[in-house]
Amino acid sequence: MPDSLNDILLVATVFAAVVIAAFWLAIVMWAYRDMRSRSRDPLAQFLVAVLVFLLNVPGLFIYILLRPRETLSAAYERSLEEEALLQEIEERPSCPGCGQRVQHNWQACPHCHHRLKKACVNCDYLLELPWNICPRCTVSQVSYTSDGTIATNSRHVQPSEPDPIDAKWVASQQLD
Ligand SMILES: [Zn+2]
Ligand SMILES: [Zn+2]
Repeated sequence: MPDSLNDILLVATVFAAVVIAAFWLAIVMWAYRDMRSRSRDPLAQFLVAVLVFLLNVPGLFIYILLRPRETLSAAYERSLEEEALLQEIEERPSCPGCGQRVQHNWQACPHCHHRLKKACVNCDYLLELPWNICPRCTVSQVSYTSDGTIATNSRHVQPSEPDPIDAKWVASQQLD
């Protein structure tokens, strides 16, 4: 065999060895980085690198089969989305009468006709039922009972009914 052919074979072998070594290292690096994006556990990251270093391509396949399905950033995004959804559900008001979802700007529940809000007698701004003054225009309001039974908007102040708790208390005092 001529020397020149030997030289060519040698160069080809070295070239192949370098390519294989680089490829080997590259898939170890890829597996290590991939595991780092899926797990914060340094031991797990190290074990993945060792597994792929020892077994190479079969090791990489084993890793891909067993790796955590979700990356850390995807898990974080999902938790944010779930939190936002939960907050939205919590913030949507429900009717105290029937528990159905209602809108912020509704004055009455369309399902059970429960009084939800009242409009300001002066500026029509929506007020909570117990409020007796409009926060926007400071005009005094007719006060509604908390169960929402009175439904008139009037500028005239209605005579207030005796508080049921007070009436009971008076009755109990009279019994003694
Ligand atoms: Zn209702
Ligand atoms: Zn007002």
